[in-house]
Amino acid sequence: MADKFPEFKLQGNRQLDRSNAWNQCGTIAKPDTEEAMQILRTVEELREWTRADRYEGNTIGIVPTMGALHAGHASLIRAARDQCGLVVVSIFVNPTQFGPHEDYARYPRTFAADCALAEAEGADIVFAPSVEELYPPGAATFVEVEGLSSRLDGQSRPGHFRGVATVVTKLLIGTEADLAFFGQKDAAQVALVRRMVTDLRLPATIVVCPIVREPDGLALSSRNAYLSAEERRQALVLSRSIRHVESLVAGGERRADTLIGETRRVFAAESAVRVDYIELVNWDTLLPVETASPGTLFAVAAFVGTTRLIDNTVIA
Ligand code: AMP
Repeated sequence: MADKFPEFKLQGNRQLDRSNAWNQCGTIAKPDTEEAMQILRTVEELREWTRADRYEGNTIGIVPTMGALHAGHASLIRAARDQCGLVVVSIFVNPTQFGPHEDYARYPRTFAADCALAEAEGADIVFAPSVEELYPPGAATFVEVEGLSSRLDGQSRPGHFRGVATVVTKLLIGTEADLAFFGQKDAAQVALVRRMVTDLRLPATIVVCPIVREPDGLALSSRNAYLSAEERRQALVLSRSIRHVESLVAGGERRADTLIGETRRVFAAESAVRVDYIELVNWDTLLPVETASPGTLFAVAAFVGTTRLIDNTVIA
């Protein structure tokens, strides 16, 4: 992070206030050093910080999240820390990516713990805007990635990817990030964001980080918090099915019909779990393919109780 803001003049000649709002993050005492992690609430403040650091020659990285941070998010922050001079972690539960009957209201919100984790992993800035900050009154501008928006999770969750594309665009423009870090866990989201960044010629490079799993295989997800002990056990069927596909592919199987059929068989053994989709697709277009080849995406989504979980593997 930039140490000083010498003669650098910001738009409107505003000087930065570096004594920021640590008091908004209750569990952490305000550190004395200038390197203290900042919590910023407005796009204008954020841009002032990132521009100042860019002026100093730093690479700007952003890790977009919805909070309830876990070891999966931590791995993204660490990757950003390794590759960037300034690391921004955004924490924003984005209302436009939730359907009317989805879990927006009850989505876990653990801001103080999130700030502690972000700081421990080396974040410089937590950007935590209000809904009104990212969607000003009368907001009427949305980003639609045609085609991709209605595939995989977009098919089951109409409007979801429109919300994702819109908020990621706002975050990328707000930070003017050079690098943006996403998890392979949300593989369809990765395809969507890559397409969007290419189409809009956004000056950011998308970095994809591997799926972080519990020791028993379950992919970490903020939504795992919804699972009862029994559902937590049932949820293992997702990672079990992924491992099964990986072993079939390692054994030479490539046919989509077989891989999908075998996966259905694995899910059938856990009858309380309802499959949403099982798909073998081209990772760029999210269109189905008949044969797996290196880079092809095998993805599953399923409801465990009322909790929808996803998992995937990219064919080696
Ligand atoms: P979320 O807060 O769920 O919107 O996720 C924020 C970012 O963290 C997304 O890029 C996710 O793909 C990524 N992420 C979530 N879970 C994992 C995981 N288990 N391993 C790696 N990345 C993850």
